[in-house]
Amino acid sequence: MTPAIVLALLLAGTTAPARPAAPPAFIVVLDPGHGGEKDGALSVEGRPEKAITLQIARLLRKKLEKQGARVVLTRAEDVTVDLPRRAAIANAEEADLFVSLHLNSAPGGPGSPARGIETYFLSADATDASASAVAARENADRPRSDPTDAVGGILEDLEDQANLAESSRLAHAIHGALVRGTRAPDRGVKQAPFHVLAGARMAAVLLELGFVSHPVEGKDLARPARQEAIAGSIAAGIAAWRRAGIADASR
Ligand SMILES: [Zn+2]
Repeated sequence: MTPAIVLALLLAGTTAPARPAAPPAFIVVLDPGHGGEKDGALSVEGRPEKAITLQIARLLRKKLEKQGARVVLTRAEDVTVDLPRRAAIANAEEADLFVSLHLNSAPGGPGSPARGIETYFLSADATDASASAVAARENADRPRSDPTDAVGGILEDLEDQANLAESSRLAHAIHGALVRGTRAPDRGVKQAPFHVLAGARMAAVLLELGFVSHPVEGKDLARPARQEAIAGSIAAGIAAWRRAGIADASR
């Protein structure tokens, strides 16, 4: 090929330049709790938490993509993913936010009266004994051979402090939207030492979207209409968090 032909081809290629794809407005990593060997809590009907969290994550992904987000799931199927790996995926994606999806289970087990929604962000100390018990249950997926204290080192540098302030703002935005959108009992925004949140270098929250141990709520959480309401509410909460952040930045 002569230089003239190469030039002609290059020019031909520039006559109708392809517009570069617009970058995503924001990047979300969704973390469906448990998976593979780890069932999580069991519902009153014997349905594992891992199956319901994945269904909700898939619904939520669609809704966030409509907002212009790029959405990555820490697991898209029923596979085992270690807790530190989940936050590492969010860090590698340089995500703007990390949302870990879980379902609660009362200490009394199936048939217990506890119901409603709790939203968490990270702290070395739990808000109360109940928050501490939730973290202990969710941290149980961690291999026993792992001696590291993933949460002990947090709150040490300024970046962590900024991430925690954003996590608190995100937690309140999502929690408010969830309580309004699902009319579930409001059990509050709390803090606890969750290992899955400890390594995340961005706004990160863990949602306890209802009690699979409750006789009515436990069954309801497996219904598509309920999952749709939950996913829609989380998406609305994330949209509200983003709007407030953009307003702050332009002030
Ligand atoms: Zn869980």
